[in-house]
Amino acid sequence: MKDCIFCKIAKGEIPSDKVYEDDKILVFHDIEPEAPVHVLIIPKTHISTLNEVNEGNSGVFSHMFEKIPEIANTLGVDSSGYRIVSNCGKDALQSVDHVHFHLLAKRSLKWPPG
Ligand code: 5GP
Ligand code: ZN
Repeated sequence: MKDCIFCKIAKGEIPSDKVYEDDKILVFHDIEPEAPVHVLIIPKTHISTLNEVNEGNSGVFSHMFEKIPEIANTLGVDSSGYRIVSNCGKDALQSVDHVHFHLLAKRSLKWPPG
């Protein structure tokens, strides 16, 4: 997707502070962290929102969730805990149209988020 900022980050055209990368997913620090640990987990392929997930592209998400324990361990938050959040669409305030999961940790996180 030509003008997608996360596609550009996935391709290395825009720099990012990477935590983990393989052929399918990229994990990098959020530019405006909302917690002491705040990373974004993205599929390298462009999928705009969770509404676009289907049988043909969902494999990347099972891969992603298989990797989350390792990512949490690398970040040193597996024991203390963390929250995974994905905002979909207008009411959830999704601001980047490339599916991403926020991993937030290292502070007490309110619930419900509001
Ligand atoms: P959303 O609001 O769509 O759920 O989350 C988008 C996230 O992407 C925000 O937390 C925002 O700070 C982050 N973000 C937007 N542009 C960039 C960027 O160029 N680099 C990085 N590392 N994070 C970004
Ligand atoms: Zn994209």
